[in-house]
Amino acid sequence: MATSLTPAPKTFRVKSFGCQMNVYDGERMAELLGAEGMTAAADGEDADLIVLNTCHIRERATEKVYSDIGRIGKDSRRADGSAPMIAVAGCVAQAEGEEIMARAPSVKVVVGPQSYHRLPAMVADAAAGKRSTETDMPAEAKFAALPKRRKSGPSAFLTVQEGCDKFCTYCVVPYTRGAEISRPFADLVEEAKLLVAGGAREITLLGQNVNAWSGEDEKGRVVGLDGLARALAAEPDLKRIRYTTSHPNDMTDGLIAAHGELDKLMPFLHLPVQAGNDRVLKAMNRSHTTDSYLRLLERIRAVRPDIALSGDFIVGFPGETESEFQDTLRLVDAVGYAQAFSFKYSPRPGTPAATMADQVPASVMDERLQRLQAALNRHQHAFNKASVGKTCDVLVERKGKLPGQWLGKSPWLQSVHFMADADIGSMVTVELVDAGPNSLSGRLV
Ligand code: SAM
Ligand code: SF4
Repeated sequence: MATSLTPAPKTFRVKSFGCQMNVYDGERMAELLGAEGMTAAADGEDADLIVLNTCHIRERATEKVYSDIGRIGKDSRRADGSAPMIAVAGCVAQAEGEEIMARAPSVKVVVGPQSYHRLPAMVADAAAGKRSTETDMPAEAKFAALPKRRKSGPSAFLTVQEGCDKFCTYCVVPYTRGAEISRPFADLVEEAKLLVAGGAREITLLGQNVNAWSGEDEKGRVVGLDGLARALAAEPDLKRIRYTTSHPNDMTDGLIAAHGELDKLMPFLHLPVQAGNDRVLKAMNRSHTTDSYLRLLERIRAVRPDIALSGDFIVGFPGETESEFQDTLRLVDAVGYAQAFSFKYSPRPGTPAATMADQVPASVMDERLQRLQAALNRHQHAFNKASVGKTCDVLVERKGKLPGQWLGKSPWLQSVHFMADADIGSMVTVELVDAGPNSLSGRLV
């Protein structure tokens, strides 16, 4: 595809939307562009290249991409008056690549989540006048082609697994991210060591189905995510390990046991259930029931009684009745989530649910979401209030708004602010003294 010549970009900005895996991918894209000699544009400065690292999970996320493309075309001007080069990456690129190219002439590069190692070459082609689209799915090739990790903040993401074979009937992920693959054990241990050497004290292992990860350890034994966590826990300077997002059916005995045995594995588990009614779960193709989910939580709480639970919920799945929705409210009350994400069902083209009968009207979904979120907020606040009086470690992540104030996370992933003389990346011990719905205040012990 031909385009006009543009000066080769010298500065870039990567804007990531959606899940933590996109945040990880955005960091890796920045490292790739940096390795080619480009620099990240300073805050408030127009970049020569803007990478929109997009999310396709819900309709509004997709619409946002098109409005961003239009706005960048109109507003952003570089010193010489030219508009920046736009690259669209992520899951919208994967799902709607050709359409974006046809609809938005200002977009010069379209690159899917498994091909972004090709981004620098595609940007160079675009500067030479060639628009291009790359949406192949060889995830392994991508990781091998990325530069080595160097610097890291105190809390780092590490993608260990990509793709999904579960095919929940509402979800685009199996189509945009492809089949499940696990990155090799040795590569992950190496990347984790580099992150720790670069400053990371906490690593969150990421995957669409992170607990489906498996690999061969250094002795050639097949291990699951618990085996990887045990290997990483041996790194002395790595203080905390987390993982997200897990599927209830991939919660193995070994991983449950690890929560009782590994101090560095934090007492927090994001385990989406989506709905609290078995007919709805079946129509969603979730392959667990409310009962099997609750029994699983009991087993996890038996080994780690203080575990903080988190989940994802969808309201208004096609055919969901008021009484089925109330089952979800009942499940929320039974579990007592420490935090959760909740969404209105969004029909995604190409997924089975999009053409199911009895789509729920928007006004009903709005009302259900409000009731669900009120319940979830109540439980989150209750969980935070129940933490008051506890003494715990907090990993210091950044300065707070007030002079002398710092912010970090408790083991249960709560935001904690406290006054102290601290350093980013240090671990401090605080007593939790007050709790709001979204954060707690602590006093240095
Ligand atoms: N693999 C994870 C799981 O199964 O729990 C979640 C991955 S998905 C990126 C994150 C969340 O988005 C899902 O748990 C679900 O609640 C929500 N989601 C996915 N498709 C959706 C849709 N079509 N409409 C509304 N929410 C959706
Ligand atoms: Fe989507 Fe279901 Fe796979 Fe999660 S498990 S990514 S919701 S298909």
